[in-house]
Order: sequence, then C-alpha cells, then structure tokens
Amino acid sequence: MASKYLAEDGLGPSAKLNHWMPGISPTPVQVVLFDASSSHRLIQGNMKNTLIGWCDHTINFWRGCNRVSEGCRHCYIQRRNKDPFHGPVRTTQATWRQAAIWDREAVTHGTRPRVFTCSLSDFFHPTADPWRKEAWALIRKCGNLDWLILTKRSDRIAKSLPEDWGAGWDHVWLGVTVESQEWVIRVADLLVVPAKTRFVSAEPLLGPVDLRPYMARLNWVIAGCERAAKDKRRPMNIDWVRDLRHQCDKKEKAFFFKQYYVGTGLYYDGILDGEVRQDWPVVQLSEETR
Ligand code: SF4
Repeated sequence: MASKYLAEDGLGPSAKLNHWMPGISPTPVQVVLFDASSSHRLIQGNMKNTLIGWCDHTINFWRGCNRVSEGCRHCYIQRRNKDPFHGPVRTTQATWRQAAIWDREAVTHGTRPRVFTCSLSDFFHPTADPWRKEAWALIRKCGNLDWLILTKRSDRIAKSLPEDWGAGWDHVWLGVTVESQEWVIRVADLLVVPAKTRFVSAEPLLGPVDLRPYMARLNWVIAGCERAAKDKRRPMNIDWVRDLRHQCDKKEKAFFFKQYYVGTGLYYDGILDGEVRQDWPVVQLSEETR
C-alpha cells in the first residue's frame, strides 16, 4: 500500500518515529569523527576511508564516468570534480598499491575488510577495458579482502570477467544498481554470470522495486535515498524500503538500509521501524581463499 506520508524529503512515518522513540539514538553524519591528518574515518577503532556504511574501504583503479540512467543524476563524483563525466582516467600506482597494504593489515588484525571498487567510476566502463586485466590480477592476489563490485553496466559483466573466473571467486561480490523497476533488467544480466555472492543496490531508490522473481539467487539487497541538495533530491517513500526489507526477509536474504533524510539531516543509522537493519550476507570461503 502506498504511504500517504510520502514527504518532500522522502520520509515516511517510521523515519520520523525513529527520532522520537525512547532508547534509540540516531547517528547523524555530523557526529562522525575524522582524523584530519589522514582523511580516514575513525569508527570503533577501525580505519575506514569511506562514509559508505556497507564497506570498509573504497578504491578507484580509475576515476570518472558517463551517466547511464536516472540513478546517475546526482552521482557523487560530481561533488568531487567539476567535469567528471568525461570517461575514466587511470589512477596512480600509489592508489593501486593501497590494496596490498589493506590485504596485509587484514592478516595482521585477523579481519576481512570489504572493499568497494570503483566508487568514483564504473568497474565495467568500456574505457577501462585496457586496465581491467591488471585490476583483476590485483583483486585475485588480495584474497584477504572481500571485493564488492557494483555496476550499472550490467550488460558488460559477462564479457569483462577474467579468464580464470570459473564459478566465481569466493572473495568477489558482484552487484548491480537498481534504482527503479525499469532497471530490474540489470539483475537478469547479473544472474547469467557465475558468482559466489550477488547483490543489488537500490540506491538512489526512486520508486518501488520488485525483486521477487530473482530473490532466491540474490544474497544481499542495499536500499537508500538519493543524496543531493534539498531542492534537487528525489523523494524516497519509506514503504518502498519496507517492501524490499520484506522481500529479503521472506527469502532470508541480507538487507542493508543505508541512508535516509530527516529534514536536512542525513542519517546512516539504518533504523527502520525502530530496528537497525544493516546486515551483510554470510560468505563461505574455500580453503584456498582463506
Ligand atoms: S554509473 Fe555510477 S559512477 Fe558512473 S555516472 Fe552513473 S552513478 Fe556515477
């Protein structure tokens, strides 16, 4: 049922309720602590280089992109570069080396950080074809990290996989963005590709999305509002989020509610109807990967 509470800033009743419920302290982005010397975010003693709650690090083997659909309208690379939409350029070796550093740190600390690539581009962008083989080799080598690859160019995944991909690599999660029902077609592209972990990012969520026909073969769904200036962002109806949560729960799949607005405040606490919904899929690692 459509919510009558669809608000100018995309809030439904639960989002408002979150902020009135006793015992629940929402965590607005403003309270996040930064180590100014390193630009790293400090969360519970772990070093992160990103505000994206569902990963620990982002790495960009190339930067820049071109818009492909409505979900790109307020792409956050715009906020970092005056003219970002000219196609990707390869980043420096220092950036690439960072992956091996995280990989070693993971061994030292006994953790498995999640690395999102490419947050400021698209891993399957055609301009990056000459560089992708090297990126795959690095990803292959850094098996102590879980690599999250999210794309809107789903039709290019199958032809851009490495030769030894086989049934998929344990430590690589493949995902597609589905901002509205129109783009559920990307999930069909994802499902023809072998992968150990598959996910959908419904962000910016611009309308209701029905993933039921595919849910059995998905592992994880992320949902979140569009991040943009108040007069520019398109509203997210909280009922669309509830429906995705319901679809996941019914098939016992992980669901991650990433972000929502309350007025001008952006919240990352994942609270939906008084409950934090920020889950990750359980990944089975073979002896070879461990
Ligand atoms: S595909 Fe992703 S990185 Fe590229 S323009 Fe769209 S939102 Fe931005």
